[in-house]
Amino acid sequence: MALTKTMIVHDRQGSTAPQATRVLLLGGTLEARRLAQRIAAEQRLEGVVSLAGRTSAPLSQELPVRIGGFGGVDGLTRYLAAERVDKVIDATHPFAAQMAENAREACAALGKPLLKLSRAPWEAVGGDRWTAADDQAGAAMALGAAPRRVFLTTGRMGLSNFLAAPQHHYFIRTIEPPDVRDLPPQCDVILERGPFDCESEMELMRARRIDALVTKNSGGDSTYAKIEAARRLGVEVVMIARPQNRGVRLTHEIESAMAFLLEGAP
Ligand code: NAP
Repeated sequence: MALTKTMIVHDRQGSTAPQATRVLLLGGTLEARRLAQRIAAEQRLEGVVSLAGRTSAPLSQELPVRIGGFGGVDGLTRYLAAERVDKVIDATHPFAAQMAENAREACAALGKPLLKLSRAPWEAVGGDRWTAADDQAGAAMALGAAPRRVFLTTGRMGLSNFLAAPQHHYFIRTIEPPDVRDLPPQCDVILERGPFDCESEMELMRARRIDALVTKNSGGDSTYAKIEAARRLGVEVVMIARPQNRGVRLTHEIESAMAFLLEGAP
């Protein structure tokens, strides 16, 4: 990995200063970008951001970037050892369950400290009409038997789950074009990247006569407008719960992530 800061620092007296803590930051989220900024500004840390490579034009980062999968748990374990990574932050999306599990296993195998950084989940407030679903397959069933007009905002991965409920008309919003083989028979694809505001989300839902919104419980402000718009229009929301966290230390705060990285730092 292309770590930028010097590993061994000699001070004016000629003694060897301790090396910076080497950090692997698993990214692909706004939180990861914000943490990358903080790491870049901290002399006691050296970091690399890892992206899956799903987005063709990823946003710029303030740390060196590596792109692409590691090759499962074994590949990640090899990478962490070869690059002498000291600490790992999993700041992938809360629904990136495979990467989270690979990080958990690889860090456990090597005894590397791991922290999950994710935005807090959304909580229902007065006026919300939420129906809970465990996953995308569950969300497709939760829409019920009668045909509906569904605003589907779960991203392009996993769309094939909705082939099991072909009676609905789906309005599918994604950043990158979905695989046509995953598309339900009645659907319109809307290619757009947020952030969106409440007014424009309400306008979209009104114009398309949406009667159900399907979303992952991603949390955070940048995609919350659709939840507020659904509340104001009385539209039902099928809310997909986050995958389980299997015992990994978790924070929602950038400051806590920095404290974790600086624990025991030189
Ligand atoms: P996933 O199912 O958990 O991961 C599938 C595989 O993609 C992993 O096993 C790994 O491949 C590779 N991968 C995932 N994140 C990576 C990273 N940051 N760096 C290097 N390799 C990575 O993940 P996903 O749900 O497809 O999400 C992919 C990326 O998109 C994540 O980084 C996530 O932060 C971002 N994202 C996801 C969502 C979502 O709703 N899932 C939403 C917004 C952004 P190997 O096994 O080969 O290492």
